Amino acid sequence: MENIKYFNINNPGERVPLRSAVLKSNAGIQGLYMPDHIPVLPSRFFRNLEGMSLQKIAFEVSRAMLGGDIPDRALEKITGKAMNFEIPLRQLDEKLFVLELFHGPTLAFKDAGARFMAALFEYLLEKDSKKITILVATSGDTGSAVANAFLNRKGINVVILYPSGRVSAIQEKMLTTMGENITALEVIGDFDDCQRLVKESFNDKELNSELNITSANSINFARLLPQTFYYFYAISQMKKLNIQTAISVPSGNFGNLTAGVLSWKMGLNVDHFIASCNLNHAVVDYLNSGKYEPLPSRQTITNAMDVGNPSNFPRLLSLFNDDHEKFTSLIKGYWFTDKETIEAMRELQEKYGYQSDPHGAVAYLGLKTFKEKNNINGIFLETAHPVKFQSDVELASGRKVEVPESFKNLLQSEMRSVKIKADYQVLKNFLLDSLR
Ligand SMILES: *Cc1c(COP(=O)(O)O)cnc(C)c1O
Repeated sequence: MENIKYFNINNPGERVPLRSAVLKSNAGIQGLYMPDHIPVLPSRFFRNLEGMSLQKIAFEVSRAMLGGDIPDRALEKITGKAMNFEIPLRQLDEKLFVLELFHGPTLAFKDAGARFMAALFEYLLEKDSKKITILVATSGDTGSAVANAFLNRKGINVVILYPSGRVSAIQEKMLTTMGENITALEVIGDFDDCQRLVKESFNDKELNSELNITSANSINFARLLPQTFYYFYAISQMKKLNIQTAISVPSGNFGNLTAGVLSWKMGLNVDHFIASCNLNHAVVDYLNSGKYEPLPSRQTITNAMDVGNPSNFPRLLSLFNDDHEKFTSLIKGYWFTDKETIEAMRELQEKYGYQSDPHGAVAYLGLKTFKEKNNINGIFLETAHPVKFQSDVELASGRKVEVPESFKNLLQSEMRSVKIKADYQVLKNFLLDSLR
């Protein structure tokens, strides 16, 4: 097995082993790691791809990347534990498909990345007697996916910081009802305050030596790799594997699309990826003009995509060696207004009987625009369960959202959180008192 090293895009010249790349991704200079070369899966794998299970795909793909670091039996365990929910591909029309990524425990696609990272961390820390503390600042979805994934993991404490009064009722329920090794801190401030507190903790040597602070933010490579699995799985569910296909990805921080391009580099047969965006469209502008100009983020109904300066964009550039022509020959991009998104949710319901969340609807719009000139098979990614955006969805589709069983239990659980001032000393004292 090849032994792959990871280089830091933010600090060229720094090359580290897997362990440092994923466990210390936020220490010192912000780590934005990528593998120093990308393995191509063997043709045997692609011959057998049709009908292959998600867990088998996850194992084979991670073996190609991590096989030099982790033995097969352990990898099998990690991928089996992580990818234990359905990711069905549904056909809406002759050449129109939707990949449902929201069947994980917290009902958004972030479960795939968070669950794999949790299982990988557990393996990497197994022989370590030291405990680690994961700090996550969240504006909503990420915190619950990470907390749920690390629930009851040995030797790992998770502390979530969320802005008081700025997450939805549903999101707060998810963040505060887990208990066990998960602590929810309700910060009197906004998301930027939460992020600032987390960054200050990373830079605090005393706190680090006591608690071994680690991040679980979306730029961690351990969250990127598992997002490639479902691109392979989507294609494996197409009836004919060698037909032309485009995949449309609703994009914010661009982790999902980066994983798509990574799977293509590993040999997956996809003709085009479509970057589907909302009013935050710096990357779409780059595609059109060759110039990248990050903008302040703007609020929309697809709030998980409200990112003005996507942190994974440098990764995408590096995958194309900064070559705009290569970039644009694989990736097309479009952006849409809230009004168009609402109209798309209505259209999906009326034309195909499909109730989509707003993020999936943006992906549908990108695909539809692309298909006007390209009559090929198209898959759009549905990244969240409609219940997470219940009122917008019900208004647009004219139908009630079916509430999943797991969600009904959640609504009855007790919420527990600790309210703190947005003050670093307060946070530090709390962490040392409760976790040391
Ligand atoms: C995070 C998120 C996105 C954006 O994904 P990126 O990888 O950040 O581009 C899209 N939809 C939903 C529901 C999300 O939670």
